[in-house]
Amino acid sequence: MSQKSLVEEMQQVQLAIELIELGARLQVLETETDLSRARLIRLFKEVRGMSPPKGMLPFSTDWFITWLPNVHASLFYNIYRSLIVEQECERMQAFVTAYRLYSEQVSIDQAEPVLGLTRAWTLVRFFESDLLQLSTCNSCSGHFVAHAHTPDQDYVCGICMPPSRAGKTRKRREREAEEAVSREVSLKRVG
Ligand SMILES: [Zn+2]
Repeated sequence: MSQKSLVEEMQQVQLAIELIELGARLQVLETETDLSRARLIRLFKEVRGMSPPKGMLPFSTDWFITWLPNVHASLFYNIYRSLIVEQECERMQAFVTAYRLYSEQVSIDQAEPVLGLTRAWTLVRFFESDLLQLSTCNSCSGHFVAHAHTPDQDYVCGICMPPSRAGKTRKRREREAEEAVSREVSLKRVG
């Protein structure tokens, strides 16, 4: 094995550890590194002290369009995009940094981190597959996650025009989030 590949392997292990610490699922690690599944499972157990959870990844774009997830997803994606476009960061480095910055911002605002790392990764992949776009709000000029090919000449974001349910209690929001997730699961079954 050449020295270069050893260095590359170490970098991949380092990336995998960072992703696991931030809450990545096994599928994220398998896609983003060349490390074997057995090694990733071992790493996961060492870092988290438990086996990686089983099950499929969420794959519906709809979740990112619902009110509260949309605000969080848009915050994260704007940070990610600025790291890629303005700072010319490498993709996964931008991803990890953007996720850390997003988490910091959420904790400063004393809000709950609605966007888990695996969701954030799914979001990036949806953008890369042209399933999502950033629409510019006509009221605040902010950029928000929207379905691809959504006409945005009249677009107004969820912060400028919150739905009536936005002011509801936490419990009710959580219940609605659960309902959204179960809708997603049933979509998955159909697909
Ligand atoms: Zn707005």
